[in-house]
Amino acid sequence: MSRVKMENVKKIVLIAHDSRKKDLLEWVQFNRDVLREHQLFATGTTGALIAPRARLDVTRFKSGPLGGDQQVGARISEGDLDILIFFWDPLEPQPHDPDVKALLRIAVLYNIPTACNRATADFLVASPLFHGEYERQLEDFASTREDFARGFGG
Ligand code: PGA
Repeated sequence: MSRVKMENVKKIVLIAHDSRKKDLLEWVQFNRDVLREHQLFATGTTGALIAPRARLDVTRFKSGPLGGDQQVGARISEGDLDILIFFWDPLEPQPHDPDVKALLRIAVLYNIPTACNRATADFLVASPLFHGEYERQLEDFASTREDFARGFGG
């Protein structure tokens, strides 16, 4: 088991599918004063929508369907992102559903606090841990993979 330190200033990534963008924008606007203390990231269209309307600096990845979700997953696996706010659409299939599933899997694997709806996002932002340091536990899956390679014949 290892631990990854999350600093006071969190790296928060914001993503919303089209039908959920209004909801995310409202949530961000409501929580603007808290969020501006942190470092914000977003997939392309979500970021383009939120940054000017909420007057926040947001670093944008590619649009989700164009690889943005995969970029976010890769950054999580590198330890570069702390919190995922991902309002995905529960009613409509997406062209990039495999990427959505992959991102959610990576977020669970790396023990990333993840909010997929507004109530959870409210609970996250209201937690004292949102503003303080936190040590995220990580199981040592990498050494399991290395053991597998070592145990492989030949
Ligand atoms: P978007 O991507 O912010 O570019 O719309 C969101 C997503 O579908 O992952």
